[in-house]
Amino acid sequence: MKAEIIAVGTEILTGQIVNTNAQFLSEKFAELGIDVYFQTAVGDNEERLLSVIDLASQRSDMVVLCGGLGPTEDDLTKQTLAKFLKRDLIFDETAKQKINTFFAARPAVLQTSNNERQAQIIEGSYPLQNRTGLAVGGMLEAEAATYIVLPGPPSELKPMVQEQLIPLLNKDHQQLFSRVLRFFGIGESQLVTVLDDFIKNQTDPTLAPYAKTGEVTLRLSTKAKTQSEADQKLEALESQLLKATSLENRSLSSYFYGYGDDNSLPKVVFELLRSKGKTITAAESLTAGLFQSTLAEFSGVSSVFNGGFITYSIEEKARMLDLSLSELRTHGVVSAFTAEQMAQGARRQTGADIAVSLTGVAGPDSLEGHPAGTVFIGLSTQQGIISRQLKISGRSRSDVREIAVLHAFNLVRNALLNDGNLV
Ligand code: ATP
Ligand code: MG
Repeated sequence: MKAEIIAVGTEILTGQIVNTNAQFLSEKFAELGIDVYFQTAVGDNEERLLSVIDLASQRSDMVVLCGGLGPTEDDLTKQTLAKFLKRDLIFDETAKQKINTFFAARPAVLQTSNNERQAQIIEGSYPLQNRTGLAVGGMLEAEAATYIVLPGPPSELKPMVQEQLIPLLNKDHQQLFSRVLRFFGIGESQLVTVLDDFIKNQTDPTLAPYAKTGEVTLRLSTKAKTQSEADQKLEALESQLLKATSLENRSLSSYFYGYGDDNSLPKVVFELLRSKGKTITAAESLTAGLFQSTLAEFSGVSSVFNGGFITYSIEEKARMLDLSLSELRTHGVVSAFTAEQMAQGARRQTGADIAVSLTGVAGPDSLEGHPAGTVFIGLSTQQGIISRQLKISGRSRSDVREIAVLHAFNLVRNALLNDGNLV
């Protein structure tokens, strides 16, 4: 919602009064979450006021005029807006009554027909009564914008805004709703490239990518009156986005793993293990327990995790996991063979449904001729064993370990979604 405040009054332009109404209104609108994009001041001149209203109507959704509602000739705000909108001015009965009562109580003050003008509103307006003065304000939805007319004296404008306008705006005011989509296995720059058209043409909902270590989130935001109205808009954009294809020719839905700001890949895996009643174990070399300690952050983890292994040296890999040391030596620590053996050994030793293993080079130095960031992940389930090789380049030692663990969780997640089938 883009709002614009137009203060009407030559005194503002000549510096005789300070435009405090604009400041007050901007502050109140900010509290309501309405963005004020422009503040304009214009003199009591029909032609210039018309041109200012014309411009505002083109660039703003809400046009707020203040000042110039009084009885004198130079008070021409309502008349000018009515002319611009090609609508008539009509009397608001409550306001008219108030003026009549006011003058009836003061026989010495001459009531002129001009005074009655203060009780007029533009046809179709919702009247905003003036508790501390005589000029009635109004709010009007017309031609794709909302027009609000308020009196100039702050002693009249402030109570009218507080007591009448704000409750009215709150009633049909739009709130910001957002939805966070989480992706793993695709970098931020690729996601931005793939979604280039969506990002360039975004208006409502809007899209904002955000990169974290090893993953990317996409925040979809929209303004709506209700959650279900927002959901409809967000749903439509989400399904379009997820159909887009990555540079590897995979649909974005294959990288998407869950919703929410406080969600994570490990959490999704933990919940999947729990809902499917599966147990997991791990044998970790370069990550030295990071996978297991990440899993253990979730309360209730003992229902899915009984224990696992930190097998840093080749000797401990063989000893703890009951593997052939000479075979491991033949293939090397950084190998698909060792990763698969570790996973299989861990599953055999614990009887878990799923075992994951991590072995590789955290860096910064290379190992067995493999550069830092070379990692093998093994996965063993009842259906078989697989391994994956990662090349995490240009990252710090701690990033390599963290990213490797997320890849391990992702492999587990895929296996769980495929009922243990390794794809
Ligand atoms: P009135 O019935 O008093 O004529 P009005 O709605 O026609 O009220 P104006 O004639 O524009 O309003 O201004 C009346 C007085 O209100 C000004 O002299 C000034 O004291 C105050 N005022 C008007 N506009 C502003 C403003 N933008 N910021 C602060 N004070 C204002
Ligand atoms: Mg006036």
